[in-house]
Amino acid sequence: MADKVRFFNTMARKVQEFESINPDKVGLYTCGPTVYNYAHIGNFRAYTFEDILCRTLRLAGYEVKQVMNLTDVDDKTIRDSQKENLPLKEFTARYIKAFFEDLAKLRIHPAAVYPAATEHIAEMIELIGKLFEKGYAYCAEDKSVYFAIDKFPAYGKLANIDRENQRAGVRIKTDEYAKDSVADFALWKAWDEKDGDVVWDSPWGKGRPGWHIECSAMAMKYLGATFDIHTGGIDNMFPHHEDEIAQSEGANECKYVNYWLHCAHLMVNGEKMSKSLGNFFTLRDLEAQGRSGREIRYVLMGTHYRKKLNFTFDALDQAREALRKFDDCFVRLSAAGGDGSADSAAQETAAKAIEAFKSAMFDDLNTAEASAAIYSLLHEANKLLAAEGLSGQGAGYLLDAFRTFDKVWACLDVDAALQADNSIPSEIEAMAAARVEARKNKNWAESDRLRDEIKSLGYVVEDVPGGGYRLKKL
Ligand code: AMP
Ligand code: ZN
Repeated sequence: MADKVRFFNTMARKVQEFESINPDKVGLYTCGPTVYNYAHIGNFRAYTFEDILCRTLRLAGYEVKQVMNLTDVDDKTIRDSQKENLPLKEFTARYIKAFFEDLAKLRIHPAAVYPAATEHIAEMIELIGKLFEKGYAYCAEDKSVYFAIDKFPAYGKLANIDRENQRAGVRIKTDEYAKDSVADFALWKAWDEKDGDVVWDSPWGKGRPGWHIECSAMAMKYLGATFDIHTGGIDNMFPHHEDEIAQSEGANECKYVNYWLHCAHLMVNGEKMSKSLGNFFTLRDLEAQGRSGREIRYVLMGTHYRKKLNFTFDALDQAREALRKFDDCFVRLSAAGGDGSADSAAQETAAKAIEAFKSAMFDDLNTAEASAAIYSLLHEANKLLAAEGLSGQGAGYLLDAFRTFDKVWACLDVDAALQADNSIPSEIEAMAAARVEARKNKNWAESDRLRDEIKSLGYVVEDVPGGGYRLKKL
């Protein structure tokens, strides 16, 4: 049986114990990227949060089916493909490829399915047909199809919209709008010249789907009419998620989603990082400045997902420094060769740290507190190493605890650190081994000569308890 976990459910506006529909299984839908450009690291805060969620559920013992859509047709994809004179598919393929590359660099575990909107037009048409049957959809003078929000009394329950102020009969064709312009929204947009050759037939004439219907149709197809968790950045809550609820619950006459989780924004100098403000960095921008996906992920992990996170280069510097300390500790642990007098303390410390880590993560993904548990183990491990009583087995308990953390953190990279440390040229290894022999024979002059020679070749040799050695690049 899976462990108990709790989440802040935006719908309930409080932390609730999570109960899955099917025992130990979770259906999760996450709104994916609109593929008209490279995603920026603000977008990746949302995808990283969703990755943390999946990984935490798996750590708790759930089997997770994550579905993330690709919005490959909307106002922006059409506009920018035309600017470049490229067919829509060819244009979006470039950014879909880049998106997957970036996900891998940020160690974001792939979803089970990445349905593309343009490959699910039939499902969307079918869903709109159902909404017609049930009296929620209507065709307007502009030939587009709209959802009549006054027919759906629960409209506004997610975003807490004041229904008194809803303006009857007002329609909005654009996909994104603010709460004060709440209105009937487009399900199917009638073709106009601006759409060029991006067009599909439907019972209501030629056109293309609205953004919101994409997610309702694809979520239903892959996860069923009611599923466990739906996520996105906080800006997706309105109108996008509100509209999804109206469409799905209107058509299926059952609850759409049991738990809604939204992450706060990544900020730059007090403003949301966004394409429209121009204050964004893509992963590629940061890589060009010598930053790595590992460091960026480490920064994104440290702040609780419901808190705004201010992006700074200082934070990236600190991440580099922190990760270096972890690497160093892992390498030293792997070389431990003490008498084992500290092993039981290490085992106990590791078990306690894992417990603290899990209880923080299972409590609404409290990465800030989990991060404290990780740091505290680093501190303890360094103390135990300094006392020189750790054997390989004792050190192994500690290394395994860091490996457990990394099931969620995915950037501590215990084994990569050990491998990098092992990639020392064989002649250097041979000299270090010869130096150990020299020391055994109390040939201090030879030992010093070998140390200097190793140093002149760019490595430093350190003695470790128990007569072993450790090599590091200078
Ligand atoms: P979009 O491509 O604009 O639909 O955004 C994709 C995802 O990124 C959505 O879940 C947004 O809510 C999220 N998002 C956009 N900007 C930010 C930001 N600055 N911080 C966190 N999430 C964001
Ligand atoms: Zn969506």
